[in-house]
Amino acid sequence: MSFVDLHCHSTASDGTLAPRDVVRLAKQNNLTALALTDHDTVAGCEEAGDEAKKLGIDFLCGIEISAEFPHPGTMHILGYGVDPNNPALKNLTETLLAGRDNRNPRIVAKLNETGVAVTMEEWENEAKGNVLGRPQLAAILMRKGYVSSIKQAFDKYIGQGAPAYFDKERLTPRQALERIGAAGGIAVLAHPIQLRTENDAQLETIVKNLVDDGLAGLEIIHSDHDAAWVEKVSRLADKHGLVKTGGSDFHGSNKKDINLGIANGRRIPRELFDRLIERHRQSRQKTSGTTMG
Ligand code: AMP
Ligand code: ZN
Ligand code: FE
Ligand code: FE
Repeated sequence: MSFVDLHCHSTASDGTLAPRDVVRLAKQNNLTALALTDHDTVAGCEEAGDEAKKLGIDFLCGIEISAEFPHPGTMHILGYGVDPNNPALKNLTETLLAGRDNRNPRIVAKLNETGVAVTMEEWENEAKGNVLGRPQLAAILMRKGYVSSIKQAFDKYIGQGAPAYFDKERLTPRQALERIGAAGGIAVLAHPIQLRTENDAQLETIVKNLVDDGLAGLEIIHSDHDAAWVEKVSRLADKHGLVKTGGSDFHGSNKKDINLGIANGRRIPRELFDRLIERHRQSRQKTSGTTMG
């Protein structure tokens, strides 16, 4: 059997391993393919892709976008096979980063008001020129002794429902799907359990609407999915002709209990990568077919 990981984060967003080190770890863990899916950026793809070539691992460039969705749920959409050199992609990542740039100083100001001494400069240093994500801020709060764990930083300060939580401006799901398509990618709904739908019928309605807007796949295997969820989402994917993906959502030591290539005790079969690539190829053919008229 051959295994892969199609959902992971590097220092290009809020993971703790550099893109090349994520690939090296994939090799160590005997994975044969990897997709890097940093939040709002593809800045790690070139480095990861080069390393993957060296080590003989198949590599796919991805991105993870957080779309508008009502509280308490979150909707994350993965874009696979996006082209880092596509102007539509640059435009997309600029839009997404502007949403963060608006939000982040508000979080810090609120923390200061609450008596937590932290600055934007410290957060920027922690991010080392990469995308600023809350897990880096959580790591700072932990280092400074305000909290004893990353989780506590979210619960007490910066997570949804906590005093220094601020939403960022997001794309609607439809906009996210359109823009992933425009950037040469295909869209997959990440970790559907995080939608926190009330029942299976509601989940299916959401998926159907996304399919109408161009959704290509569902993430069936994920660290948050137990066996029942893997089964449920897998059935939903089959029913709606969607490709099935899987990934650990590895973040390095920002999420200590998650190992690259393992999602809730489960490994991700190579077949999922191969089908994803095939689906991407088909979708590209269709697009070029229509533009060539
Ligand atoms: P941001 O993109 O800056 O909004 O941060 C999102 C990141 O924070 C994602 O990696 C989430 O998994 C992580 N995150 C969000 N809520 C929590 C939480 N309650 N505990 C730990 N990590 C969280
Ligand atoms: Zn993350
Ligand atoms: Fe996510
Ligand atoms: Fe993720």
